[in-house]
Amino acid sequence: SRRRNPDESIRQTDGDASQARLSAVRKRYLNDPFIALLVPQPHLLPSRPPLINIGTYIRSEAIDELVVSWLQHNAASGSKVQIVSLGAGSDTRFWRLATGLLGGDLSRSIARYLELDFAENTSTKIRAIQVNKELNSVLGEAQISGASLVSDVYAIRDMDLRNSRHVLQDILIKSDEQPLGLLDTSLPTLVLCECVLCYMTQEQSDSLLKWFSDTFDQPAVIIYEMYGLNDSFGRVMKDNLRSRNVTLPGVDAYPTLDDQTRRYTNNGFPSAHALSLKTIRSQYIDPKELNRISRIEMLDELEELELVLHHYFVSWAFKNATDILRPWVLS
Ligand code: SAM
Repeated sequence: SRRRNPDESIRQTDGDASQARLSAVRKRYLNDPFIALLVPQPHLLPSRPPLINIGTYIRSEAIDELVVSWLQHNAASGSKVQIVSLGAGSDTRFWRLATGLLGGDLSRSIARYLELDFAENTSTKIRAIQVNKELNSVLGEAQISGASLVSDVYAIRDMDLRNSRHVLQDILIKSDEQPLGLLDTSLPTLVLCECVLCYMTQEQSDSLLKWFSDTFDQPAVIIYEMYGLNDSFGRVMKDNLRSRNVTLPGVDAYPTLDDQTRRYTNNGFPSAHALSLKTIRSQYIDPKELNRISRIEMLDELEELELVLHHYFVSWAFKNATDILRPWVLS
């Protein structure tokens, strides 16, 4: 039998993420009117187990909270900002921000929201945007060419993120030679890496982080993915993925949360923090919310939930602004 192209298997991991999100939205863990528009045949998809719904909820809330804190911090200084989402897949955060569902009117300060992914995934998303008024009416006029779309604020572009820094530089950065470049290196720029760096080697993801640190004056990064997979739980998880032709080549390079902060300090981000989803659930999610979601579905195994949440983390880092996100760091 023909072996599937490994990149195709990586692209398809977006289906897992978007189906999990759709399930969590339908059960009312999360409020997101946009995800159903980005998933093909949403009515045919079954719900995911409670454990997956809760994990999806915590991950989404944690990243949203950090994004909003970063926007608030920059709004206070009056600066325009940029957000770049690596391996964005079917992510809906742009629409939630642009409509005020997330962050109220903070999105006014966003000069550019850029999503990058493989061409097959950006093309699928562009088609969904074209056929859904709820999605395209938010963008205003948009130019589509090939697998990319550029509007006033939102842009989506096909790119293999394992490319060298020269390719990133040439394609993404506005300059005298490249006046149509999508990003301005002088603006505060938040890089979202939600479950994407794990599919690259350590060299590739390190070089990506280093490039953002070297290129932008005020970069910040948020990473979400798995870690600590060198135990029995991790082996099961990796075998599971391997059976679907997905490998995680870089995931064992930074096996602890301390290693995850070192990952930043080694690559040009001296101020870094990392928390497991288990800690975020027990110490950072509003107890009222925890109470609300605990009543949505029966969860019979709290231990199992904690074991899973212990293998995922959210981390964030800055090159030059140590006091951003104080609410989170101090609470
Ligand atoms: N960030 C989204 C989320 O969290 O819902 C999607 C996550 S999905 C698990 C991983 C995404 O990263 C896929 O859309 C995949 O195509 C993309 N991706 C992985 N490696 C990539 C690479 N080298 N270049 C571009 N995109 C990549």
